[in-house]
Amino acid sequence: MTKRVYNFYPGPATLPLPVLERAQEELLDFAGTGMSVMEISHRSKEWDKVMSDANSLVRELMGVPTDYKVLWLSGGASTQFFMVPLNLQQPGKPMEYVNTGGWSTKAIKEANLYGEVKIIASSEDKKFSYIPQNIEFNEGTAFAHISSNNTLYGTEWHYMPKVPSDVPLVSDMSSNIMSKPVKVKDYGVIYAGAQKNIGPAGITLVIVREDLLDRVPENIPTMQKWKIHAERNSLYNTPPVFPIYICKLALEYTKEVGGVKEMERRNEEKAKVIYDVIDSSDGFYEGHAREDSRSLMNVTFTMASSELEDKCVKEGEARGLIGLKGHRSVGGMRASIYNAMTIDGVKTLAEYLREFQSENQ
Ligand SMILES: *Cc1c(COP(=O)(O)O)cnc(C)c1O
Repeated sequence: MTKRVYNFYPGPATLPLPVLERAQEELLDFAGTGMSVMEISHRSKEWDKVMSDANSLVRELMGVPTDYKVLWLSGGASTQFFMVPLNLQQPGKPMEYVNTGGWSTKAIKEANLYGEVKIIASSEDKKFSYIPQNIEFNEGTAFAHISSNNTLYGTEWHYMPKVPSDVPLVSDMSSNIMSKPVKVKDYGVIYAGAQKNIGPAGITLVIVREDLLDRVPENIPTMQKWKIHAERNSLYNTPPVFPIYICKLALEYTKEVGGVKEMERRNEEKAKVIYDVIDSSDGFYEGHAREDSRSLMNVTFTMASSELEDKCVKEGEARGLIGLKGHRSVGGMRASIYNAMTIDGVKTLAEYLREFQSENQ
């Protein structure tokens, strides 16, 4: 038996075991080809099927309307930080962002290269520990941008901001895509690096409303045009076949176990287990995020000293609880409990944290 630990890393992150086993089984001979999926042509009929299955699974699981395109692109979510403004900007119109820290700050930095950026709200005043409430984007904006889950700080949007009907809402859903149902039609563009919730690093899912492709400027490099990738079904150049293939397996698995609705049920249950430990610890564990903004994906917390935190991380590792150190910009601890983290993993962590408290208080 292979030894598997409970992996709380923020990304790349844990994948469902049945997905890894299936990949292992098929590694040397994919679909009876006598070749690995990494060795077959991306123009072959076997690859066509992987790609079209992956697309239909995204459509089915998320309820993507027919007037949206599903794209698989390289360069991570960080590449979309500049592709969004590059493809959607409109002369004379500002681009509006909400700054919830970390990745959204990086997205804003890139947008600044292309035109006027308005930050209509920020939670920087309180170390990005909350999601600004009652947000309304303005008329006359090229697009509105949010980060639906803030991986570093452990905050998550639990409501929809108000957006004028002719302004496309763009959301970076890298760390909570498919963790709960969303209404795709409320968005112009959704993008997500796969390595948190739907697969391995190296591939980014982009869902874009068709009419927005008309905005894509002619005079930008071909690889940076969403329109080209949409027309070529993400096969303009050689795509990262292995990451897409693993995403396909993970999406199949998600469907098999009950889809995105079931993921939401599990994620709520899992997050509650950890937040309950924090809330009943009499301040031994201090949650970073304000209660109304708590993430179901990344639970961030601190302890009285960094020595104690280091000790907690180390002793956790010795028990097979891996990746609990907080992001360097926030400090403290973080348990990333994405779709693929099991309830058993979360309960084992909760038990450990209770024990650690009683031994170190
Ligand atoms: C991890 C992450 C990113 C960066 O993704 P890359 O694929 O490494 O570029 C962007 N946004 C959010 C919300 C993330 O969690």
